[in-house]
Amino acid sequence: MAKAKAPRRTLDSYTVKPINKIVKPGDCVLLRPSDPSTPSYVAKIERIESDGRGANARVHVRWYYRPEESIGGRRQFHGSKEVFFSDHYDIQSADTIEGKCTVHSFKSYTKLDAVGNDDFFCRFEYNSSTGAFIPDRVAVYCKCEMPYNPDDLMVQCEICSDWFHPACIEMSAEEAKRLDHFFCENCSSESQKKLQNPHNTRQSDAKVETKRRRR
Ligand SMILES: [Zn+2]
Ligand SMILES: [Zn+2]
Repeated sequence: MAKAKAPRRTLDSYTVKPINKIVKPGDCVLLRPSDPSTPSYVAKIERIESDGRGANARVHVRWYYRPEESIGGRRQFHGSKEVFFSDHYDIQSADTIEGKCTVHSFKSYTKLDAVGNDDFFCRFEYNSSTGAFIPDRVAVYCKCEMPYNPDDLMVQCEICSDWFHPACIEMSAEEAKRLDHFFCENCSSESQKKLQNPHNTRQSDAKVETKRRRR
């Protein structure tokens, strides 16, 4: 005899017993991968449901992809804690939730004083079937014209405001950290030209002097 199937219920929250954490729709969570050697999956909970008796809770999730899980793979400018908000939805048992995490905007991530294990950041949406990103263009910096990787140290030119990797300007990280002022090659040569131009007014000469305090 077939049992009548109890209707499923939508839950406002769910307590994940093994970790004793309450999760709600909108929360970002880490899910246990089937292969224990891969890092935990990152997802945003869209909805939580259970059977009619409140058991067998399942989470409807939208996956965040890690760079290595994307079609293009990990690129040099991808941060170690970078994830892409995908268009890939799924349903998982709520008991595969290993913990909660925070997916920051790129801006707020770069302002964190300390990055914890549970901190991630997202600056791209990702189409899991085509491998395309939104936005498909991002600002690039330095002579190497790369998007900013928040894990890498960069120094900013005080004139043009561009950012540079110490290695790209033949400087060690230690030297870069000790800099009080930095002017990139282009801006330094511009200043030199102005200095050598006899038609320059005294005012601009004075300006160049102060800008050349660089060691
Ligand atoms: Zn560079
Ligand atoms: Zn510059």
